[in-house]
Amino acid sequence: MSFVWRKPNESVTLLNGSFQTRSSTLCPNTLLPQQMIGTVARVGNLVRPSLRILLIEDSVDDASLVVCELARGGYDVMCERVDRPAAVVAALDRQAWDIAIASYGMPAFAGAPAIDLLRQGDADLPFIFMSGTIGEDAAVAAMRMGAHDYIMKGNLTRLLPAVERELRDAGVRRERRRVEQRLAHLAYHDALTDLPNRALLHDRLDQAARVANREGTTLALLLLDLNGFKEINDTLGHHAGDRVLQFVAARLRATLREVDTVARLGGDEFAVVLPLADINGALLAAQKILDELAQPCVIDGQSLIVRASLGVACLPEHGASADTLLRKADVAMYVAKSDGVGIAVYAPTRDRHTHRRLTLISQFRKGLDESQFFLEYQPMLHLQKNMIIGVEALVRWNHPQQGRLLPAEFIDLAEQTGLINPLTTIVIETAIREWSQTGTEPRLTVAVNLSPRTLLDPILPLRIADMLAVYGAPPSSLALEITENILMSDPARSMDCLQRLHAMGIRLVLDDFGTGYSSLSYLRRLPVDELKIDRSFVAGLASGLDEVIVRSTIDLAHNLGLTVVAEGVENENAQTRLCEMGCDAAQGTFISPPAGASVVRDWLRRQTLLGLP
Ligand code: C2E
Ligand code: MG
Ligand code: MG
Repeated sequence: MSFVWRKPNESVTLLNGSFQTRSSTLCPNTLLPQQMIGTVARVGNLVRPSLRILLIEDSVDDASLVVCELARGGYDVMCERVDRPAAVVAALDRQAWDIAIASYGMPAFAGAPAIDLLRQGDADLPFIFMSGTIGEDAAVAAMRMGAHDYIMKGNLTRLLPAVERELRDAGVRRERRRVEQRLAHLAYHDALTDLPNRALLHDRLDQAARVANREGTTLALLLLDLNGFKEINDTLGHHAGDRVLQFVAARLRATLREVDTVARLGGDEFAVVLPLADINGALLAAQKILDELAQPCVIDGQSLIVRASLGVACLPEHGASADTLLRKADVAMYVAKSDGVGIAVYAPTRDRHTHRRLTLISQFRKGLDESQFFLEYQPMLHLQKNMIIGVEALVRWNHPQQGRLLPAEFIDLAEQTGLINPLTTIVIETAIREWSQTGTEPRLTVAVNLSPRTLLDPILPLRIADMLAVYGAPPSSLALEITENILMSDPARSMDCLQRLHAMGIRLVLDDFGTGYSSLSYLRRLPVDELKIDRSFVAGLASGLDEVIVRSTIDLAHNLGLTVVAEGVENENAQTRLCEMGCDAAQGTFISPPAGASVVRDWLRRQTLLGLP
């Protein structure tokens, strides 16, 4: 037996797809709870997929016809019939439904309120109107209200295909929503510890500072950095390092109050915002944290003592804004670390920041004049064609005292001081020059990373057009990589610049996808051709963790007509799985690490000779 309706005096049972009624006063409204559970029913050897229908219908006979038609189509139908708004709400509260079917012209319950109620209960629930008399106008009105389809009661032949299609579409909608929610969560949380990340910490600190300034109260910020974390990683491995970070996150959360924000800023650095705390309160909290962390933590059978250095900055004593507090707590943390004292409160006498920053800026200017910046290139492999299609230019600074510096150590400074624009010009010019005459066929695309600030430069498109003309390079041989936060400072101006670059025929790539602030819908607004999945998701493939995100991102990007590239491919397994998932291209150390132009060119020649990519 597939289902039983509970009603005052009678029952309807469905056997092998047909109704048996024992009364003409049939009043099916609720299913017995036990009949609603379970997803697949077996009739003989046949496995029937279950279908939970919420039927908004005042006619028992019409309800029976619908159930019969779907049962005949092979479903194990579980149905609840309702005909009042309150009953719809109760049914939605009670359980999840696969589909809702509503009679269009019920006297006591019109179509629009029915749709509203359903949308409030489950935004993705497929919804079909049925009517005996629906005319074209009413049908159009029903679709406008948000129905997915409408069916004539006199002709139920369209019911089954319509239900099947809507179930499929709802699956896609739900999957998409799930991925968007996950991405939205990841934009503000650290994947390893699930603590708020730097972006969310900044928001909360900013908010707390505003409140404290307005109300004349205090606020403290603690920055915490683990001592010897690198040694733990080096000696016990990254897995143990990750466990230590999770241990610290859990201890911090358990030690502090609900109103305090605990965040992971990256690496082994954590931050704590203590609303209403003054310097003494902050010192007490800091000591409590150190005491808690001093309890041994057992990882892979080994007992470890985690030690940390804590820097304290307070509002109003040390600053009034989030940025100032962060900077000063950072200075204090370095003092705590270098002095080996565990906890330090910010002191102006120990703040070398201003001096260090000024020195770096003048060194940067000198570096630009003396050509200390150079490029490395990382090849990009087309996974399906198994050939190299382009390279990404990555800037390095050959610092006279500090040696080779990576972008993480100087791009921020360049952005804050405006020196990013001359640097970008040098990078684009060098990239075009070094790859304009490679002799490879087809020509490789060279991709350059752009900072948000660069897009505010109104003559950037003209300057790029000039550079392409000088080297006789077609615009399609240049790609520009932008990130999701590119439109944050001046959206109209940045968008205008992007559109001009796109109209010139330059490829635009959305880099580090999944780490920014936006959702997939944001993508449609940007004139991009390509999407680059951030390496953190590719790294997560090994554990199966991020598989759903990567797979859905590939599918959704393809649906939007975008090419998908994965970055950070570090092993064969990741490359194979990305290829299987339909990812178009990939780059990473497994394919080739970044290297100078001539090294990459030799490598490309060898690959061609060997008949490899
Ligand atoms: P990105 O554009 O996402 O570049 C990829 C980064 O991943 C590069 O780091 C590259 O060396 C690294 N990488 C390559 N393969 C692997 C791998 O298999 N595993 C892992 N874990 N990493 C891999 P790099 O060179 O340090 O650059 C870091 C970031 O700096 C870049 O990220 C980009 O956002 C920025 N950047 C680089 N060059 C420039 C530039 O000329 N201008 C601007 N504005 N930003 C740049
Ligand atoms: Mg990039
Ligand atoms: Mg990237």
